[in-house]
Amino acid sequence: MSIALKIQQLQASLSPRGVELVAVSKFHPVERLIEAYNAGQRIFGESRVSELLDKIPLMPDDVRWHFIGHLQTNKVRRLVGNVDLIESVDSERLLKMIDDESARKGVTSRVLMQIHVAEEETKFGFSPDELIKYFSERKFEDLKATHICGVMGMASNTDDIDRIRADFKAIALCRRQILDAAPDLRDFDTISMGMSDDHEIAIDEGSNLVRIGTEIFGRREY
Ligand SMILES: *Cc1c(COP(=O)(O)O)cnc(C)c1O
Repeated sequence: MSIALKIQQLQASLSPRGVELVAVSKFHPVERLIEAYNAGQRIFGESRVSELLDKIPLMPDDVRWHFIGHLQTNKVRRLVGNVDLIESVDSERLLKMIDDESARKGVTSRVLMQIHVAEEETKFGFSPDELIKYFSERKFEDLKATHICGVMGMASNTDDIDRIRADFKAIALCRRQILDAAPDLRDFDTISMGMSDDHEIAIDEGSNLVRIGTEIFGRREY
């Protein structure tokens, strides 16, 4: 199926349910992104800072870029101010660096807190307990130029549907518990979960932002 048709098909299935689509375009050339853009896609996800910064000037101005990869602290300076949403804040130290840099540049950064629930140790993110503690202690009130818009997470890399569903449930529950701990949090609405193989389960469990690469653009060549 063509990229354009795939985008139209996904949008037709997602928008009526209030789910936004991030087209994960990492490792794909800009020509493919343009195809998706021309089919109406506006949110693109990238996981490497240099690749993202290379692509920005080659795409129309109304593209909303999401950073979805592990962000190294030494790349924060280059990223801040260039994206609509940093989905993958995985430590308090990183959050503070994003906040300091945003204040310095006079911009407000929008971010999601990445939750780690998957069985793989290699994945990044806060444990649910750590994150609930962060909000119970109201540390977010120290942020000067960053708005936390919600949470992001990945399910275990497995064929076990029950495990995948349990992981997504745990992410959605963690967001609920954060809101219980800090009921006055505003615009903490985004639950980013679900990729090519598991987005239907993720939506079932409350996702309202899915990050889909392979299903749109085909396999990545690393
Ligand atoms: C690459 C990536 C995706 C997209 O995965 P696909 O299986 O290609 O849809 C989604 N989320 C994150 C964080 C990624 O790194």
